[in-house]
Amino acid sequence: MVAILEKRNDKAGSSEAASREAEGRDRGLPMVRNIGIIAHIDAGKTTATERILYYAGKLHRVGEVHDGTAAMDYMDQEKERGITITSAATTCFWKDHQVNLIDTPGHVDFTVEVERSLRVLDGAIGVFCGVGGVQPQSETVWRQADRYHVPRIAFVNKMDRMGADFDNVIREMRDRLHANPLAIQLPWGREESLEGIIDLLEMEAVGYDRETLGAKMQPQPIPPDLAPAAEQARAMLVEQIAEKDEAVLAAYLESPDVPADVLREGLRRITLSGQGTPVLCGSALRNKGVQHLMNAVIDYLPSPVEAPVIHGLHPKSGATETREADDHGPLAALVFKAANDTYMGRLALVRVYSGRVRKGQNVFNPRLRKRERVSRLLRLHAETHVDVDTLYSGEIGAMVGMKNFTTGDTLCAETAPIELERIRFPEPVIFIAIEPRSTADRDKLAAALASLEAEDPTCVVRKDPETGQQVLSGMGELHLEVLKERMKREYKVEANTGKPMVAYRETVRSAGAADHRFDRDLGGRRQTAFVRIEAAPLERGAGTSVEIDVPASGLPADFRPAVEAGIQDALVTGVLARYALCDIAVRVTAAEYDPETATETAYRSAAAMALRDAVLAGHPTLLEPIMALEIVTPPEFMGDVLGDINSRRGKVEEMVTRGEMQIVRAGVPLAEVFGYATAIRSLTKGRATYTMEPKTFAVVPDAIQQELMHR
Ligand code: GDP
Ligand code: MG
Repeated sequence: MVAILEKRNDKAGSSEAASREAEGRDRGLPMVRNIGIIAHIDAGKTTATERILYYAGKLHRVGEVHDGTAAMDYMDQEKERGITITSAATTCFWKDHQVNLIDTPGHVDFTVEVERSLRVLDGAIGVFCGVGGVQPQSETVWRQADRYHVPRIAFVNKMDRMGADFDNVIREMRDRLHANPLAIQLPWGREESLEGIIDLLEMEAVGYDRETLGAKMQPQPIPPDLAPAAEQARAMLVEQIAEKDEAVLAAYLESPDVPADVLREGLRRITLSGQGTPVLCGSALRNKGVQHLMNAVIDYLPSPVEAPVIHGLHPKSGATETREADDHGPLAALVFKAANDTYMGRLALVRVYSGRVRKGQNVFNPRLRKRERVSRLLRLHAETHVDVDTLYSGEIGAMVGMKNFTTGDTLCAETAPIELERIRFPEPVIFIAIEPRSTADRDKLAAALASLEAEDPTCVVRKDPETGQQVLSGMGELHLEVLKERMKREYKVEANTGKPMVAYRETVRSAGAADHRFDRDLGGRRQTAFVRIEAAPLERGAGTSVEIDVPASGLPADFRPAVEAGIQDALVTGVLARYALCDIAVRVTAAEYDPETATETAYRSAAAMALRDAVLAGHPTLLEPIMALEIVTPPEFMGDVLGDINSRRGKVEEMVTRGEMQIVRAGVPLAEVFGYATAIRSLTKGRATYTMEPKTFAVVPDAIQQELMHR
């Protein structure tokens, strides 16, 4: 494992780069790229990344996912499961540019990883499988990237596989992603006889030398039998670019044979403005097309200077602040991930947006209003790292030595404080009860859970207030499995766990109001409070809002926090079956204050009781998570698959044919799809594949609600 991570020193270029790494800033900001690779699971992200690192001189030999030697899949479990769970960040140099690469997982049980990497990236490579096309997770991730306005290029991988179809992927990008795909290459050969690619900008065919694992490229004239198709594809590409870019249009009007450089500049402007996506192709596994992909990263994706300026709030005044990528500006960095290292302790993975941070310097955390010293700075490469003295604006790296921080925190200059927008995380949908196997394990388990929770914001640990049981919740069965495995391997603690359970929510169907007067003798004195609360439904996915709309004569400022705490108590515990309330607007509409007898305890208790009664008056109901399920099956099993979805209260939304296979898309309640992997295997003799991801919450049918509440 370690052997393949050592830097190649046999190339003059990389030792030169190494000495520059030691000195200071390696590259001016326009020469930096912060790039993520996003895709459906198994599309070939990890395989492609390995090639990139190999060709960039970072790896001695190419690691393979299937024999468990891929450098980027660095947790033991990933090697066993063959999937990428944690985003690993790495830096390499390409054509004199510094490329910071973030490997994101494709499995949606780990959406959080995708979400936080998109937040700190300037551009992305979308990898698609030439056979599978635009699969559901690529769709999800593409939408996420749309939301963050991340410019993208696309790589259609696995062109060596049987049934690979470049045109079909282009079509699906248009139809399903509503993208504007711009094919700048065609595959040269197909399936087993894939030779390489045809570059439509340079109008040449490129083959790859097997001996050097594709490192040596063999450019040559386009074979005559492919020339007409290539001519036609280039003409279309030039028209597509001219349609969006005036400079290219002007050149085109002069002569339809627009030079490659002019086209590249036009493509860059189109990509940066989000008006189109250059599409390349190849086969990562067969070492074809990867160098062109890296060239395209440099040619079309933005440097930190071209990325939009970052916004945040002044922690005191609340005024909007902006920061530009500038080494001489005030420091503003975002912690996009907290990680643990056995030797170094807690690591903060950061993107520096503005300014720079030096080893030994103090950084300010505005959320905690605290200063902490950074004892070491690292540039990352999967599980190894290089010590650096400074991290500059536009860079991604790790800070060591700080104790108090969480994912989403800003670290900045104390003299110019800013809080950057926090990262949004989805709500957990599933949970298990968890307890130490022996009393000796109790403290170890608590420590393990605390550290996993700090690292992964979609992993939530809490204590059930009534049973006193520890509860671990997450994004799906696989997510919980992985968390359990990690406790065993990394924290050496074994736990007893219960069956996975659905994390239901509660909400109101209509507006309700109630008041509560608290008046009791407690601890030898009379304590009073009076509060009136309204609860109204909000649309699905809106979360909760709390508003206190009473004058200080009814509720002095000192007692507001007590009322807010009471409301939180009731929101967390719910009223029907102890599930958290959501999609609800809470408003305090009246309160009374007696200066002689008012206490915080009285207000907190009155607020909780009033909200509970208001919810009961608002026709409360249970909500359940609905999963988006996509099944790819041979047609002969369609009847059984559909019947099974039906029996699971599922709703089929779409059925399409792709080649020999049928695709079914459905929404199915999470409660009905536990152990689905086994069920679908036996239903289709192991020939169907499926993916599942949380989609929305929906009202639980009445009959089932009755059961749940009397359980
Ligand atoms: P990831 O989940 O997107 O990281 O995908 P991986 O890189 O782990 O690849 C998934 C599987 O597809 C592995 O077994 C790879 O060996 C295989 N694979 C990746 N790229 C190619 C390719 O270009 N052609 C073929 N035939 N298989 C590939
Ligand atoms: Mg992977």
